[in-house]
Parts: sequence; C-alpha cells; structure tokens
Amino acid sequence: MSADLHSENQYLKRQLRAYLTQARENEKKFLRFHSITLKLLAAPDLAGLIDIIFNEYRREAKLDTLTLTLVDPRYEIRRTLTHAGLDYNNMPGLIFVNKSAELRKYLSGKTTPQLDMFQKDHDDFFFPDEDRKPASVAILPLMRNKRRMGTLNLGSYAENRFVQGSATDFFQQFSSILTVCIENALNKERIKQMGLLDPLTSVHNRRYFDQRLVEEVDRAARNQKPLSCLFLDIDHFKQFNDEYGHLIGDRVLQEVARILKSQMRVSDVMARYGGEEFAVLLTNTDARLAGNIAERIRFSIAEQVHELGDGVKANITVSVGCDTIHPERNQDARALGKNLVNNADTALYQAKDAGRNQVAAFKRKAVKLKQQVG
Ligand code: GH3
Ligand code: MG
Ligand code: MG
Repeated sequence: MSADLHSENQYLKRQLRAYLTQARENEKKFLRFHSITLKLLAAPDLAGLIDIIFNEYRREAKLDTLTLTLVDPRYEIRRTLTHAGLDYNNMPGLIFVNKSAELRKYLSGKTTPQLDMFQKDHDDFFFPDEDRKPASVAILPLMRNKRRMGTLNLGSYAENRFVQGSATDFFQQFSSILTVCIENALNKERIKQMGLLDPLTSVHNRRYFDQRLVEEVDRAARNQKPLSCLFLDIDHFKQFNDEYGHLIGDRVLQEVARILKSQMRVSDVMARYGGEEFAVLLTNTDARLAGNIAERIRFSIAEQVHELGDGVKANITVSVGCDTIHPERNQDARALGKNLVNNADTALYQAKDAGRNQVAAFKRKAVKLKQQVG
C-alpha cells in the first residue's frame, strides 16, 4: 500500500469514528429529548409541569440557568399555582407578565426561537435575578394561534452554546410541544375548577366542600387544633322567588355568597351546599370563636338593605347552626367530618325553630357514665 493510500485510509477511519461518535451523541440527545417530552406530556397538572421544566429539563439539558415567562392577564395561572400549594413569589425563574405586548417588545416582534449572545437590553428582562448572567441564551417564544403565551429562556455560561441560526428547528419543535403541554394543563385546571364551582355564585360547590372536609379534619387532627363548621340557610327564601321571580331569588343567593366570601379567611372553606344553604369550615377555630364569627356574618347580612337590581330593595336574614370538633389522629376523618356537618345542620334547625335570624350551637347531650356496680 502506498504511503498516500495508507494515510488516506487512516484519515477515512478517523472520519468514520468521528461520525459514529457524533451519531451516538445525537442518538443520546434524541433519547433524552424524547424522554423529557414524554414526561412533559404526562405531567399531571400545571405545577407538575413547571417542576419538570425547572428541575428535570434543566438538569438533563445541562443548562446553567433557565427561566419561564408566562402571559397571565386574568391571574388565572397564578391562582391555579397558589391553589396547588406552589408559592410562585419564591420562584424567581417564573416571570409573569400581564400583557403579551410586553413580551413582543423584548422579542422585537420575533415569533421563532432566538439564539444569541446575551444582550443586556433585551435579555435582562428574561434573566432578571441571576447573579451571574449567562453568556449565550436561547429565547423560545411559546406561540399558540399566533398569540404569545410566554417564553422559555435557556442560558449558558459558555458563549458558543447558543449560536445564531443553529438548532432552531429542534428548539421550534420543543417550544411547540411545551406550549401544547401548558395549554393542556391549563384546560384541565379550568375543567376541574368548573366541576368544583357553583356557576351562579362562583363560590365552591358541595363536591369541593366534601373533598376539603376530610382534608381539614385530617389536618386539624395532625395539628391538634379545633375545627368548626357553620351551616347557614337563608330565611324564607321561597318568598323572594314567589314575590319577585327567581331571577331576583338568584341575586339574593349571589349577594349572600358575596358577603360570606368577604368575611372568610383564606384558610377557611366556604361552599354553596345546596339550594339556599351555605356551609363553612373554620380552621383552627374553637366553639367560642366560631359562635362569634357566625354572629358577625348573621349581623352583616341582617343590618343592611340589599339592592337586588331592577329597583328591588330587600332585607335578607339567615339562620346559622354551628358545631366544633377536636379530632384525634387515630379517628376516622370521613366519619368525623360527616358528623360535624350533621350536627351543624341540626343546630341550624334549632335556630329556625327558635324564630330564625339567629345563631345556634349544637348541644351535645351530657353522657352519663354508668356506675359500675361491683
Ligand atoms: P326557611 O326559612 O324555613 O329556610 O324557608 P325557605 O323558604 O328559605 O325554605 P324552603 O326550603 O321552603 O325553600 C327554598 C327555596 O329555594 C325552594 C327552591 O325553589 C329555592 N331555590 C333553590 N335553589 C334555587 C336557585 O338556585 N335559585 C332560586 N331562585 N331559587 C332556588
Ligand atoms: Mg331557607
Ligand atoms: Mg333550606
């Protein structure tokens, strides 16, 4: 073999090895991408999705920094996350904007992935809190029906990690998948909320209350705190319907729901339990305090003349029953919860019998201990 041929052969072998290494690397990258995509698609909810992006994806993609911007004009996403127990104020990488126009400004009107060196005037917005700013960045607009839903922002300390014009197809595909996942999670959340909200009053419904009841009894047992329940029914509600029609009746329900809501703490649970009945769970509240809160609610409804629209002004009164439990850890939370609600309901009927527009606490019968005759 001539020296020329030999060295060419060696060169080709090296090339082949390089291609094979590259192909294996690409295959690994593809598999990593594939696995993270499957995880994103399988995320149970929005909080889970955000967790995968910030933790698993960031680690797998070996990113030095990652932030996510979301357009949230009606605070819907923030409310959903709070509901899921996620404190977004303590997540500096999660940036909310109220209008998509704000994003358009920083993206200079672009709708495709932008890979480039870090530029302070544009990119400070996407990486506001970093002590060390990235050297190169990829800003991926999350587009849905020509609307900007947000951006996923990837940063590297290496200048040559994100280079203009490279791998944009890959990032385009990734951002499309992520957009669908976010939208899907939001839709799921909306459906869930719809199933747990009363459409007339926009407060939670009985299904939601029953779910939370067991959780709250459990929590009270764990924390060794009392839990109180108020059961509230509008007095002579039928008369509003009969006298003014059911539309005005509906407004009475909305008015009572609004006042109740304004009197609750964030930790309390309030729901429209049935036709003109509302149920409230007061966490960490003993019988005395529950009685005071019930009286405050009763008074705040009775003291004012309510404007119900169409020129109708009316007095509204409610009767309230309450009961309190001090659950223990080894007790059946479901049974205790059911009992608590039943007792509050019994007390409500005592309030009705005693003349309405008043509060009654459930009276436990004194239990006589049998004397052991020995
Ligand atoms: P009481 O003081 O004993 O509670 O008397 P009441 O008239 O409030 O109670 P009653 O149970 O006799 O009547 C409740 C009425 O509430 C009957 C039902 O038609 C009406 N109702 C239930 N749900 C709705 C609703 O969503 N809208 C309207 N407008 N009426 C409703
Ligand atoms: Mg009633
Ligand atoms: Mg009733």
